[in-house]
Amino acid sequence: ATRPYDHENVFAKILRGEIPCDKVYEDDHSLAFRDINPQAPTHILVIPKGRYVSWDDFSANAPDTEIAAFVRAVGKVARDAGLVEPGYRLLANIGPDAHQEVAHLHVHLFAGRALGPMLI
Ligand code: 5GP
Repeated sequence: ATRPYDHENVFAKILRGEIPCDKVYEDDHSLAFRDINPQAPTHILVIPKGRYVSWDDFSANAPDTEIAAFVRAVGKVARDAGLVEPGYRLLANIGPDAHQEVAHLHVHLFAGRALGPMLI
């Protein structure tokens, strides 16, 4: 069963404007901003504005319109940053074994250097 959504998670606070973020993209359904502790020269987090704990919650429970909008937003962020040709990596952590720290769905976008083979 999906955990209940915690409205005090850090990305909920960013969505409410209670803490700042370095925004790179926003539309009606999605927000993208730079990770505060970047693991690559470009490390962007893309989140849906809807309150979903994880990819599991989102994929099971979100309306198709929100899912489509989010998938398109992730692609647009990468295209607008000029990352398609050099390439980029998407990653989502779901739950404790994956070390998901923030319980609001986020997709990591890594780019800006040769990332090498994925270690895990
Ligand atoms: P997770 O481990 O949940 O997949 O990744 C959470 C990510 O959120 C981490 O990469 C972490 O650096 C980032 N993060 C945590 N708190 C903040 C914050 O307040 N602002 C921003 N921009 N990123 C954050």
